[in-house]
Amino acid sequence: MYANYHTHTPRCNHAVGNEREYIETAIKSGIKILGFSDHAPMPFPHGYYSDFRMRPEQAEDYVKTLRNLRNEYRADIEIYIGYEAEYYPDIFDRFIEFISQYECDYLILGQHFLGNEEKDVYSGAPTLRERDICRYVDQVCEGIDTGKFTYIAHPDLINFRGEENIYRRETERLCGYAALKNIPLEINFLGIMDGRHYPNPLFWDIAKECGCKAIFGCDAHSPKDVPDRETLIYAERFAEEKKLEVIDKAELISPVS
Ligand SMILES: [Zn+2]
Ligand SMILES: [Zn+2]
Repeated sequence: MYANYHTHTPRCNHAVGNEREYIETAIKSGIKILGFSDHAPMPFPHGYYSDFRMRPEQAEDYVKTLRNLRNEYRADIEIYIGYEAEYYPDIFDRFIEFISQYECDYLILGQHFLGNEEKDVYSGAPTLRERDICRYVDQVCEGIDTGKFTYIAHPDLINFRGEENIYRRETERLCGYAALKNIPLEINFLGIMDGRHYPNPLFWDIAKECGCKAIFGCDAHSPKDVPDRETLIYAERFAEEKKLEVIDKAELISPVS
């Protein structure tokens, strides 16, 4: 694995290990580019906080810590500072304004919730509703349209259990748009490791048909996950079977310039 842009830190409340441990494991694994993309701080209105992301007041320390480590390890590995963020239309401009106060090299789009998160649907919950998958695809496409995202993390997160022709139609819409805008789609290692519903084989058949580019992402919530060996082997086989073009390095889009 040459590059991994999907790495968390304990600030999100569900990851373990410190930044230095993630970096040292990556170096040992031969990774040359390591991007941190912890669950982004979001300036939600009326005092709402999610418990699976860093709080806005932790962003400064996040960036400072990574900057120092980037300098310290510069001879061994390239480090980038990013976030995994949702596209939440109501607060997206405020979010960009907020992270612009600090350094940010890139964002990956992980659309964990529909709408604006608060009082809405988790994207990975099993659903039979056509409306849910349509909303998911609309929201991911709108996220791409902002021009702020470098790639889409676990694009197959939506867990639609309804008619296959609906799944196909909506997935073609997402993949066609990503291909048109030249946005890579991530084969997510955490999904493989945890035996989740993604990577979804049908999704990736359609991604191939649409000419999408794939990229591997560890989605590391523990230093041992950069990368987990068995998972990497599984992902390589999966990509080969699906005849996917896997890029080993992303062209980072800066969201703050
Ligand atoms: Zn997470
Ligand atoms: Zn993640």
